[in-house]
Amino acid sequence: MSGSEVRFPKSLIEFQGRFASESACAAYLFERRWPEGFVCPGCGDGRAWLLKTKAFTYECAACGRQTSVTAGTIMHASKLPLTTWFWAAFLMATHSNGISALQLQSQLGLGSYRTAWMLCAKLRRAMVNPEREPLSGVVEADETIFPFRTKGDPIVVPAGRSSVGKMLVAGAVEVDGGTPRRARLKVIEGFGKHDIHAFVLGAVAPNTRLVTDDWPSYNGIPDIKHKAITVGPMAAHIALPWTHRLLSNLKRWGLGVSHGLRKTNLQHYLDEFVFRFNRRRTRHAAFDTLLAIGARTAPAPYHLLIRKAT
Ligand SMILES: [Zn+2]
Repeated sequence: MSGSEVRFPKSLIEFQGRFASESACAAYLFERRWPEGFVCPGCGDGRAWLLKTKAFTYECAACGRQTSVTAGTIMHASKLPLTTWFWAAFLMATHSNGISALQLQSQLGLGSYRTAWMLCAKLRRAMVNPEREPLSGVVEADETIFPFRTKGDPIVVPAGRSSVGKMLVAGAVEVDGGTPRRARLKVIEGFGKHDIHAFVLGAVAPNTRLVTDDWPSYNGIPDIKHKAITVGPMAAHIALPWTHRLLSNLKRWGLGVSHGLRKTNLQHYLDEFVFRFNRRRTRHAAFDTLLAIGARTAPAPYHLLIRKAT
C-alpha cells in the first residue's frame, strides 16, 4: 500500500471527521503544496509568518509577499468554505458515476445552481495531470458520434461518419494481457487522417501497437505499429472490446448523470470521465490526486469556464 492510500479517507464518516473544519482543510493544503515547509513563490525564502488578519495566509519574512494556501490553485479567491471544496472533490472523485451540479447543489446545500456548476467546472479542470504519461504497449482506438443537445432540443443521434453538425469523439484504451488499463478521450473535428493522426500521436507513445477497425484514417501514422481489424459483419464489441465499452459507457453516462452533455466544455466532461475510468480501482486515492493536481492548477476565471467549444 502506498503512502497516499494510507493517509486517505476511505469512507464518508472518516472524511467528515478528518476535514471537519476550515483549519483542517487548510493544513492539508499546506502539506500538499509545501511538503518540505513554506516556500515563498516570490523570492523562494522559507521564513514566513501566519497572518492573524487574513485566513490561512503567510507573509514572507524576506520580501513581505503574502501568500494564501489557496493562491494559484483552483480554489483561489473563492468565497466558498474550504470544507465545501473538499466535500465536492471527494464526492466527484469517489462516486462511481460522478455527480452532477444539481446533485452537488442539494447534497452540499449550496445557495445556487450556478455556484454548484462553477465548483464542478473548476474541479473538472484539475482532472488532467499535466505530467501524465502517454498510453503504450497495445492500445485499441476507435471513434464515435456523440449525441448532444442544444437548448430545449431533444438528443440527436445522427448516423454515419460525416461530421456535419455533430460532435465527434475519439477514444483509446491501453490493454495489458486482455485487461484494460488507462484510457484517453478527445473531441475531434472530423474522422479524416488529420484529426485521427493528431489524436493518436497525442495519446500514445512511439512504437505503440495500435489496434483499430479498418477505417483508413488510422493508416500511416508515423512511429506507430498498426494492426487494422477488418470488422465487416463482426461486431465492434468483439473486435475492439475495450474502446467499444469505453465509448458506450461514456454515452450512457452523458445521457444520465449530466442529462445530455452540451457541446460547451465537452472536452472537460471527457476528461472527467477518463479521470474516473483511470482511477476506477483507486477511487479513494483519486480524491487526493484531484486536490493535489488542483493545488498546482492555475485558477480558471469565469470567462474561460463558459467559453464555447470551437
Ligand atoms: Zn518572499
